[in-house]
Amino acid sequence: MSAHEAKECCTRCAPQYAYEEEHHHHEHEHGHIPEGFFTTPHFIGFVIGSFLFLGATLMDNAHPLRLWVFVSAYALIGGEILFLAVKNIFKGHLFDENFLMSLATVGAFSIGEYPEGVAVMFFYRMGEFFQDLAVARSKHSIGELMDIRPDFAMLISSDGEQKVSPELVEIGAHIVVRAGEKIPLDGLIMEGQSSLDTSALSGESLPKEVKTGDEVLSGSINLRGVLVVKTQKCFADSTVSKILDLVQNASAKKAKTEQFITTFARYYTPFVVVSAALLAFLPPLLFEEALLSEWFKRALVFLVVSCPCALVVSIPLSFFGGIGGASKKGILVKGGNFLEALNRVETVVFDKTGTLTQGHFDVAHVEAYEGYEAQEVLRWCALAEFYSNHPIAHSIKRAYKEPLVLDGVMHEELVGYGVSVRVGESMVLVGNQKLLRERGIEVSIVPSSHTVVYVARDGEALGHLIIEDSIKEDAKDAIQKLYALGIKRVVMLTGDNENSAQNVAQSLGIREVFAGLLPYQKVEKLESIMASSKGKTIFVGDGINDAPVLARADIGIAMGGVGSDAAIEASDVVIMNDEISKVATAISVARQTHAIVWQNIIFALGVKGVILILGALGIAGMWEAVFGDVGVALIAVLNASRVLHVKA
Ligand code: ADP
Ligand code: MG
Repeated sequence: MSAHEAKECCTRCAPQYAYEEEHHHHEHEHGHIPEGFFTTPHFIGFVIGSFLFLGATLMDNAHPLRLWVFVSAYALIGGEILFLAVKNIFKGHLFDENFLMSLATVGAFSIGEYPEGVAVMFFYRMGEFFQDLAVARSKHSIGELMDIRPDFAMLISSDGEQKVSPELVEIGAHIVVRAGEKIPLDGLIMEGQSSLDTSALSGESLPKEVKTGDEVLSGSINLRGVLVVKTQKCFADSTVSKILDLVQNASAKKAKTEQFITTFARYYTPFVVVSAALLAFLPPLLFEEALLSEWFKRALVFLVVSCPCALVVSIPLSFFGGIGGASKKGILVKGGNFLEALNRVETVVFDKTGTLTQGHFDVAHVEAYEGYEAQEVLRWCALAEFYSNHPIAHSIKRAYKEPLVLDGVMHEELVGYGVSVRVGESMVLVGNQKLLRERGIEVSIVPSSHTVVYVARDGEALGHLIIEDSIKEDAKDAIQKLYALGIKRVVMLTGDNENSAQNVAQSLGIREVFAGLLPYQKVEKLESIMASSKGKTIFVGDGINDAPVLARADIGIAMGGVGSDAAIEASDVVIMNDEISKVATAISVARQTHAIVWQNIIFALGVKGVILILGALGIAGMWEAVFGDVGVALIAVLNASRVLHVKA
């Protein structure tokens, strides 16, 4: 990336908002270009230098001031590069692109080729500007995307719970963190116990057990119970800046092609410099008739053409641009490596609830067993689900229209099963048949192609609910699109019952289905699927129960809307608006990025190769070399910027 990273442009802190308010748009709507971009001394110097350059080329060759006008133009346009090159030599980075540029241009001046010398710097800086612009645009798109799902804190106040921006929470306030949610602020656990996923902070993948009195750090994910946390620190850095940093800087997340080019340049540049030196001095030493001035010129042509800038600059830019382009379509890709992997996908594995289906259930039927009332069954259900974030829980709370009052609920989320909750004096279980059977309560299987939720209190079944979920509108289309893109296998894994799973799979044309899976079984199934397919495997999911599978898959894609923080954190790609067809879009963007990267590689190497040969034969001169280096780099950068605007 370029020297000036335009850090100020997008490390925007999330605006101060009350969560319920209409989410407002950013003021700098037009501002894909960072503010003040055209008024920096850099840019003004560049413009003045360019005019001087133009003036100088129009001057008579014999004009006494001609050299000095070129030198001033050079200083204004490329002075900084020269300065950086010298500075970096003292830092021990001898052979970077600044050094190459400086060496080539000073060399050009030394043999009287002033226009060529300035032109190299001119086009190089043009390339840099376009690159900065593309980077800023990508950052802008990513930043805008992140605003869709702002961080929040559930503040406990005198009138109940209130969803607020974490920035508004004072030290010492009490907040509630439900299962699947991210802890928004550092603090002390006042109530509850749970396991936390701290992998985002420590890289430690085993969950950490915590209880009342323990300290918790923001960014960890609550996996099980409900926690009441007393905050100890203010909100420091927003997810936006963290994500941007991750996407742009984490070397582990860089695409292999990108890493390769950087390493390649490190060895290649010294090689070019040494070869150019040999080319300049060896022939005149060995052969009587070889003129130093002629070979020096050829060496300079060689040096300029061989500069790897076009690749060093355009390849990372293509990946970052691809990430920006995906962001514009509502897809957050957390690194170039995932974009690269998306290109070789063979298998797509889907979770069902909340992923292929909307996760907005309607309670279609309440069955009360002997001795109980339907409304009573529903009430116990709603009470038990009070602290759950599962889509099923939300729909049950919606169906029970009356306000819920509860005190001292001990809640435990049994991922893949349901919930186990102490309400007053009673122990209430709400979940699937597996859950009740595990607790020694026998219920008969309800034949239904929908999801069945059982309720038990103190070891006795009270009844069951039948809840219906509808398939996402674009799901069928999305699966067709995947097949059209050449995806070989589409599989569904779900924790729900066999009937409802088959029902959904059949209407979507998915042939491979595995139902009734617990989170660890989902991982096992995924592993066996991955073992039997050659290409990369995507897993698409939304729930806490999907987090381990999302992490295990080659590419984990989470639903940003209905999805839990746990799933979003564990994933590599997030679809912000939950549209399943975006999986195909992501693959298309990845393929176009891949195509552009390879266009640039072939184009750059091809042009350079030809000019090198012509240069060695003495046919191509300095102008061809300038084109072969900075001209090609500029074209490559412009080509790379196209990925920001890909249609998919
Ligand atoms: P999927 O894998 O299809 O996304 P989940 O793993 O989220 O489904 O849930 C699996 C099953 O576990 C659900 O179909 C439901 O029976 C049960 N379950 C999980 N959480 C809850 C809850 N909070 N309330 C009731 N049932 C639940
Ligand atoms: Mg799910």
